[in-house]
Amino acid sequence: MDWREELRKALRLQEADRRCDALRAERNALLHDAQEASLDRDRRVRAARIAGAEEELADLERRQRLADLERKSLEEERARATRRLYGGDIRTARDADGLQKNIDGASKQIDELETAILEAMERAEAVRKGLDLARAELARVEAALADRREANRARLGQVDAQLPLDEAARAAEARRLEPAVLREYERLRPRCAGIAVAPAGGGSCGACGFQLSAYWQEKLRESATAPVTCEHCGRMLVDA
Ligand SMILES: [Zn+2]
Repeated sequence: MDWREELRKALRLQEADRRCDALRAERNALLHDAQEASLDRDRRVRAARIAGAEEELADLERRQRLADLERKSLEEERARATRRLYGGDIRTARDADGLQKNIDGASKQIDELETAILEAMERAEAVRKGLDLARAELARVEAALADRREANRARLGQVDAQLPLDEAARAAEARRLEPAVLREYERLRPRCAGIAVAPAGGGSCGACGFQLSAYWQEKLRESATAPVTCEHCGRMLVDA
């Protein structure tokens, strides 16, 4: 068995493995896309804020209606008291005073209600304006999220179509290797950050950059009966 030739094949296998790993990593990143998750969080926060503002607006409108009803009832009460006061049936000054007090009391409450109604209307107007802006922002975030999801989905479709092809190519490369070389390659690869075989151009290890000694370089050129490994990182070297 010519190790040098086998390791050249192993380099091609490693390249196929690298493509498969990259696709698997991309697939995983697409399924757990941080930007998509962040947009989705943003969307939920904004939707919750809008729901809160809508609730406040409904509450303001309800309070406005109630205050309005109360004001109308007080106005009727005041009108009745006014009619009685000037209707000519009041005999005593005490009765007239009592009615006047009722009228003044109703007027004061009506004033207070009108102020409260006005304040509620102003607040409702501000909430409505805020809601318009918030809804426009939410629509923007929702559109960005939909775009991102669509792009991720489309890319995932491409990756899912490509991965089986690359895996088949990888399997074909693996079959070209002698079993003993394949075993050594697969033993080393997970321990060496995915790189079990490195080209050794210019007298240094193509993976870790270690400058090989003259003796080691000589060994690399001459030896085809056993793998030559980098003195520093332990990867198998191919004379490049
Ligand atoms: Zn090395």
